[in-house]
Amino acid sequence: MSNITRRAALVGAAAAGAAGTLPTPASAQAAPAAVGRQAAGYYRYKIGDFEVTTINDGVRNDKLERSPYPNVKLEDVQAALRAHFLPTDQMSIPFNTTLVNTGSKLVLLDTGNGPGRSPATGLVAANLAAAGVDPKTIDTVVISHFHGDHIGGLRTADGQLAFPNAEIKVPAKEWAYWLDDANMSRAPEGSNLANNHRNVRRIFGSIADKVTRYEWGSEVAPGITALDTNGHTSGHTSFLVASGPGKLIVQADVTAHVALLFVRNPGWNAGGDMDGPQAVATRRKLYDMLATDRILLSGYHLPFPAAGYIEKDGTGYRFTPVAWSPVL
Ligand SMILES: [Zn+2]
Repeated sequence: MSNITRRAALVGAAAAGAAGTLPTPASAQAAPAAVGRQAAGYYRYKIGDFEVTTINDGVRNDKLERSPYPNVKLEDVQAALRAHFLPTDQMSIPFNTTLVNTGSKLVLLDTGNGPGRSPATGLVAANLAAAGVDPKTIDTVVISHFHGDHIGGLRTADGQLAFPNAEIKVPAKEWAYWLDDANMSRAPEGSNLANNHRNVRRIFGSIADKVTRYEWGSEVAPGITALDTNGHTSGHTSFLVASGPGKLIVQADVTAHVALLFVRNPGWNAGGDMDGPQAVATRRKLYDMLATDRILLSGYHLPFPAAGYIEKDGTGYRFTPVAWSPVL
């Protein structure tokens, strides 16, 4: 109701001699102040007896001036953005970690960008606090792969361990690749690849003897099994979270970057897909299984709360997000 309409209504009510207290006239109310910031980014749901919480790490907005994908033309990227009602002059990349309370352990799957990478990322610490979780109480941190947006949150701004009491578990294959000095020396100077090698050493260099390396097929925590989903990186890992009849696949970067675009266009490769054809084969295999078995998916780069279902749709897939529920 506009102020004028409201005032007219109030005058009308007064003229009619309405009983009781009249509301304060609109002209006497202070203008409402815009809040100007988003609510905390965490979302809880149950998988069997486990309580799962998506912990959002924020969104990075990159200007879109040329195609960020090696096998896709700029106009096709823009058409795909338009199909999702997204702006076509920028790419907004969401980041979401997953916290699992198994009843005996508090397990964090990936850690976010960490401090200082871009203006609206590195929010895991704040969103954990908003969700009432003290980082000192996390028992296990499990890493899916060694790209900076997944491992950066292991360190605080002053270089300390962000989860000081947690056992840190990493894929054995990922460790073998990134900590190999010969692989690092082959990365062209100044490339993303070289920068990532350096970042891996910044994060893990001083704690190599404290990091547990796990194999695909093993349980990384009670009810959480590591799955081989290599292609995005050679050691890239997803997780099956299972409790009773409940099942969830936490896929990390099976679809990466602006993940929705790769759901619809599974043949595309993100710049970070280190083995393009293998990344595509892994994506199709996992998504065919998700569609057939109707298993809930959590995707690191899907829009918050990053959980939903996959269906086949033509030559690609369709993602339907979970419906928000006020009760668990
Ligand atoms: Zn990623």
